[in-house]
Amino acid sequence: MRKKKRFIAGASCPECHEADVMMLYKEHDVEKVECVKCGHIMTQPKEAVQASTRQFEQVIGVFRPE
Ligand SMILES: [Zn+2]
Repeated sequence: MRKKKRFIAGASCPECHEADVMMLYKEHDVEKVECVKCGHIMTQPKEAVQASTRQFEQVIGVFRPE
């Protein structure tokens, strides 16, 4: 696993409006958010994403796919 992928709690997809399907990962130092449901991708370097991800980690622990 080269990429770190983490799900974002409480985030819903702006495309398909599913909740808890948004996955955060880093590509070329740019944080991107991908919907695992419909494949919608957002480039989101905003701090809000990191904040909610951290909150998520505190709740369930760090998500480790590997
Ligand atoms: Zn979606």
